[in-house]
Amino acid sequence: MTLIQNPCPWPNGARCAVAYTFDLDADSTIHLNTPDIAHTRVCASSMMRYGPTIAIPRLVKVMRRYELRQTFFVPGWCVEKYPRAIELLLENGHEIAHHGYLHEKPNILSEDEQLEALQRGVEAIVKATGARPLGYRAPSYAFSDHTLHQLVSEGFAYESSLLGDDVPYVVRSGNGELIELPVDYSMDDWNQYMCFKELGYMLPVASPKRAMELFRAEFDSAHRNGGMWITVWHPFVSGRLARCEAMIELIEYMMEKGDVWFATTAEIAAHARACMDDGSWTPRVDKLPYYDKPAA
Ligand code: ZN
Repeated sequence: MTLIQNPCPWPNGARCAVAYTFDLDADSTIHLNTPDIAHTRVCASSMMRYGPTIAIPRLVKVMRRYELRQTFFVPGWCVEKYPRAIELLLENGHEIAHHGYLHEKPNILSEDEQLEALQRGVEAIVKATGARPLGYRAPSYAFSDHTLHQLVSEGFAYESSLLGDDVPYVVRSGNGELIELPVDYSMDDWNQYMCFKELGYMLPVASPKRAMELFRAEFDSAHRNGGMWITVWHPFVSGRLARCEAMIELIEYMMEKGDVWFATTAEIAAHARACMDDGSWTPRVDKLPYYDKPAA
């Protein structure tokens, strides 16, 4: 019995697809939320700059050790600000995907402001990588009622910030469609580890063992049911020593279990599209936005 109604046939008979995805936000949110005093917030900046300076070289080394290429969602401002981190990721075959310009939340901006942030982010990525990004994750999951049609018109192939299924599905708007690679809050490291009063987060800090217990339970279930496991990690949060070691143990656990397809999110989206094209799988379709005006 599988609990998933419409599992996607994964390559080489794998039982599940796995993507360790990273949101490389660095200190963008400090400059977004408090532009006038950002330069005075030295401690918070030091914590967040740990991402591109310390965690990225470490994570690149880990991924190289296990021959993995994964996806990094990066705000355009961070692409420009931390070129060495981006070069390292590119040299090691990782995917750079879009994550806003300065980590703006689309759903609190005007439609024009949303498009401007999207286009500025694309420009920064094109300049650094030579290619347009294929994938997008809305900063703070704040996908708006305009996000999809803007992504379609900018030529994106997939999106990964909605929570609507366990396997890829299609999100369709008036001007076209994208592959959605859904995630879930339970699979975000922020909820396990983020405790920093100045940023307004006072969550109890989980031990890496406890955090991995949750991620592993989701993986085991995806493996049993033919699902997809996409975790959202922040380098400055999970690149810390003990947390990084716990991540390594989880990678090894998955590799020992076997029948796992490790892929970038671009590869998963391309596979889903190929299965649709050759008729081997038909995904569920969500037409967006769900409502065009207040429903009540
Ligand atoms: Zn982010």
